[in-house]
Amino acid sequence: MSGTEDRGAIIVVDLVHDFVDGIFKTERSLEVARNTEKFLEKVSKKLNVILTRDAHIEDDPEFKIWGPHCIDGTPGAELYGNLAKFSDRIISKRHYDAFFDSDLDGYLRARKISRVYICGISTDICVEHTLCGAFFRGYEVNIISDLCASLDIRAHEDAVKRMKVLYGARELSYKELEDIYVEK
Ligand SMILES: [Zn+2]
Repeated sequence: MSGTEDRGAIIVVDLVHDFVDGIFKTERSLEVARNTEKFLEKVSKKLNVILTRDAHIEDDPEFKIWGPHCIDGTPGAELYGNLAKFSDRIISKRHYDAFFDSDLDGYLRARKISRVYICGISTDICVEHTLCGAFFRGYEVNIISDLCASLDIRAHEDAVKRMKVLYGARELSYKELEDIYVEK
């Protein structure tokens, strides 16, 4: 979507193969990716949709912590399913925070977007850091908690709590957003 009055955008974090159905897949990750696909199909005409993809260089310093994953140019770093079809912009990133070293902030500002709805994988790592990045750049932050997944459910729940407490994030479900943006 582009050029309409609404100042909101959805940022879907890292629904790439290594996280959805590859080396870091979880029970929830595939369900989240499939639900996100259906959700975007409904709302992408009403809201800007930005997809981020973890896309590392070989021997990226982050691999000391997690081991090799999402190496740019390999299938593991490609977006899952048909997600790309519903996006206005794809941001490749090498760090947890999708704002860091990317043109995400510039893109949002050029479109005069002031409110972001964030979801994706993992809740406590790239989603949380990206929401933090949005908060410190002055965006109104929202977390679509039922379109997020972590390696374990406790880490997911703790992260959602932290985002609400530390950054004033509003928690909402994807159904609530559909109720706002999808015409009945
Ligand atoms: Zn990574």
